[in-house]
Order: sequence, then C-alpha cells, then structure tokens
Amino acid sequence: MSAGLPVHPGEPWSSGVRRRADGELEVAGVGVHALAAQHGTPAYVLDEADFRARARAYRTAFETAFRAVGTDVDVYYAGKALLTVAVARWAHEEGLGVDTASGGELAVALRAGVPGAQVGLHGNNKSDAEIDRALEAGVGRIIVDSLAEVERVAAVAAARGTIAPVMVRVTTGVHAGGHEYISTAHEDQKFGLSVVAPASADGHGADGPSPAMATLLAVVARPELRLLGIHSHIGSQILDPTGFQVAARTVLELRADLAARTGVLVDEVDVGGGYGIAYLPGEAPLDPAHVARDLARAVADAAADLGTPLPRFSIEPGRAIAGPAGLTLYTVGTVKPVQLADGRVRTYVSVDGGMSDNIRPALYDARYHAELVGRTSDAEPVLARVVGKHCESGDIVVHEVMLPGDVRTGDLLAVPATGAYGRSMASNYNFLTRPPVVAVADGASRVLVRRETVDDLLALDLG
Ligand SMILES: *Cc1c(COP(=O)(O)O)cnc(C)c1O
Repeated sequence: MSAGLPVHPGEPWSSGVRRRADGELEVAGVGVHALAAQHGTPAYVLDEADFRARARAYRTAFETAFRAVGTDVDVYYAGKALLTVAVARWAHEEGLGVDTASGGELAVALRAGVPGAQVGLHGNNKSDAEIDRALEAGVGRIIVDSLAEVERVAAVAAARGTIAPVMVRVTTGVHAGGHEYISTAHEDQKFGLSVVAPASADGHGADGPSPAMATLLAVVARPELRLLGIHSHIGSQILDPTGFQVAARTVLELRADLAARTGVLVDEVDVGGGYGIAYLPGEAPLDPAHVARDLARAVADAAADLGTPLPRFSIEPGRAIAGPAGLTLYTVGTVKPVQLADGRVRTYVSVDGGMSDNIRPALYDARYHAELVGRTSDAEPVLARVVGKHCESGDIVVHEVMLPGDVRTGDLLAVPATGAYGRSMASNYNFLTRPPVVAVADGASRVLVRRETVDDLLALDLG
C-alpha cells in the first residue's frame, strides 16, 4: 500500500476535489462559486488535508522502507515550492523539517515556529548575512555549494564563536527530469561539486581529488565546521526513480572514499527532492512507497558492497507535497476563435491572470490541464488554449485543452496541480497584483496570504 497517499492515477486534482451534481467543483466541501465570491479571482486554492496527507505519506513511506534496512530517514519539505507561515507549520506538524534557499525563506520557517534545528539552508551564493542569520537561528544544517563557501561559513562561525553544521552538495553525474535521466561525467551547471576528478593537463588520468572530495577535505580540516554528511539533488519532476538509486550509490562511494582518506565516516546522506507528480489527466505520479522501498534496497546493497554501515538518510520533496494540493481559480474574460494555418480553429480563452501567477509554461514549456468548474455544459468540446492577460504572446497558461464550445465570459476555470512553483515564482509583471493563497479545509476557507493591492505596489515606488 502507498501509506495513505491520495493518489488518483489519471486525475491531477487534489483528493478533496469533487464535482457536484450541477457541475460545480468543490474543494474540501467549499464550492468554487463561494470561493470566487469570497476571495476573488485569480486565487491559489490549497487543499490543506491533501497537503498534510502527502507530507505524511512521504514521511511514512520513507521511514518504513529505511527502518526495514536498519537505518532511518528525515524528510525536509522543500520550502521553495510554496512557503507561507501556515504551510511551514503544516509541514512541521506532520513531522517534516523545512529546507530554505534564502534568508527570506528562512524567516518564514522561523516565523512559523519551526525549530532552527529542523531547518536547512541551501543556496549556491549565500550572503554572509544569510549565513550569520542561519547560525544565529541554530539551523540544523547549511548545505555548502562551493570550496569558497567553506571559508566563508567558517569565518562567520568563527566570528560568532560557534561551530557550523554543514553538508557538502555534490553532483553525481546523474541529472534527471521529466521521463528520462541522463548520466554525464561532468555537469555543466551552477549547483554542487563534481565527484569526478579533473583530467590532468595531458588529458590522461586524474590530477588531484575531485571538487567534491577537495571540499569535503576542506570542511574536515576546519575546526569551525562540523561535517554532517553529503548532499545530492539530481533534478525535478522525476518520474523514473532509477536516477535516485544511481546517485545514492555514487554518494555512498564518495563517503567510503572520504573515510579511507581521513577516518571520517559521515553520518548522513541527503538524496534531495524531485519526485514527479501528475499534471495532466492520465499521468501517473511517483508512488513514494515504491520509490522508498527500491531506494532503501539499493543503498543497503551499496553499503554492503562497500563494507560501510548505512548512514542516516534525508530527502527533500517539495513539488510532490505542495503541487497536487493546489489549484488556481480564474475567471474567463475574452474568448476569441483563431483560424490556424491547417484550417482548424483554436479558441483562445483569456483568464484574469497568466504568466505572473504561473510562469512555468513560459519558463519550461510546462503542460497543464484546465476545466470549466462552475457549471456543466453539453456543448461540443473545442480545441482551446488558455492564455493570460499580459502583454506577451508567450503568456500561456494551458497550451492545449478541450473545453466546452460554449465557454464564455464569466465562467470559472480551474487549473489543477499549481500548488508548487506557482505562488513561489509569481511576479508583478504588468503591475498585476499577486493572487491570494486560500486554504480550504473541512468546508471552510481562510486566507493564508492576502491578495496584493495596487497600493502595495505603489508603496514601493518612492517617486
Ligand atoms: C528544488 C529543490 C528541491 C525540491 O525539488 P522538488 O522538485 O520540488 O521536489 C529539493 N532539494 C533541493 C536542493 C532543491 O534545489
């Protein structure tokens, strides 16, 4: 069993979503007409019970699987997916830590009452002020991302007269995302430190330790730093979990190598986040129970091969917890049929938001689903494209979806699976005000983050 995860294969909606007999969609017992009337549109609507259930499901699945092979696991919610004070509190109440990637995210987690010891700080370019604030808050771990950062964290820790708990983020050559994963020796990206030693000048053999090993050795050598372990995050929206196993084995090899060189066998390995979800009808999300079981077996095998005891593990799911729990509610404005070159007609359905509340289609060519949620319709479906109201032709919310042919101004339209990387990546392009985050639970809604106003935006402009 999947440890209680409300997975509905073929349905990208949260578990509290129902269709009433009259065609109106409801979330946790609250109809979309009431939500729109009370909170306006566009609005991010978050199904609290669904978020909590997914957090619990990941924790339970990984605890069960890793305890079965004789170790344990901590789950950190990756706050960058969606972070509000209430959301951080939910994650904490469900037994998760919170990962942050900036001083701002750290502030939200702390405001929520998440104990510093259960917070991690990430980032490839942390400021000294962010490092200082993290140490002041007693964060459980700072994930170091470069050799230069070793010196900077050590200097800030020395100035505070404290010892900084650190992990070192490495790249394993496994870079995953979407349906496939590719394994390359050297990764051309800004995050992490390669486990591959640089080739010598003559092109033969390796010249000195890998960047990952050099950084681990530097941490071990600094008395102001305590090396907790090794961190690896291989990508996002991963639907083939093999990459996690390959990366974890590489990290365990690096750990054994470090122990052979220094006698230091680190206690913890973090295998990051990236667990894929369903965005479209018919897509199957990763099942945490399967991923956890296969990963636990793979790391147990690897540790046995290496002759090292298993470390404690940690994981950092973000999208898989927040994504399916959220939908965006829009009101339809202009409807415009456009004749295509091949003779087909595409109906452009403009909504009252767009790329400012969901940048992922423009940024990653991400695909979403949409449905009319305020009523039923017997009209023949038409090929539609849902677009926003921005001055940008790439302002697309849903590239292609069949909608009832009588779609019209004033209809309510919802896009599911927008809980992650919607609000957290939102902008004020064209001076649109960012939508509220509305939580729904047990037949009632409440505002977690209010809608921005034009006055909010003007307040920043000093003339
Ligand atoms: C983005 C990120 C995550 C979360 O990724 P999801 O795809 O949302 O699960 C976890 N860890 C690190 C280091 C990240 O950068």
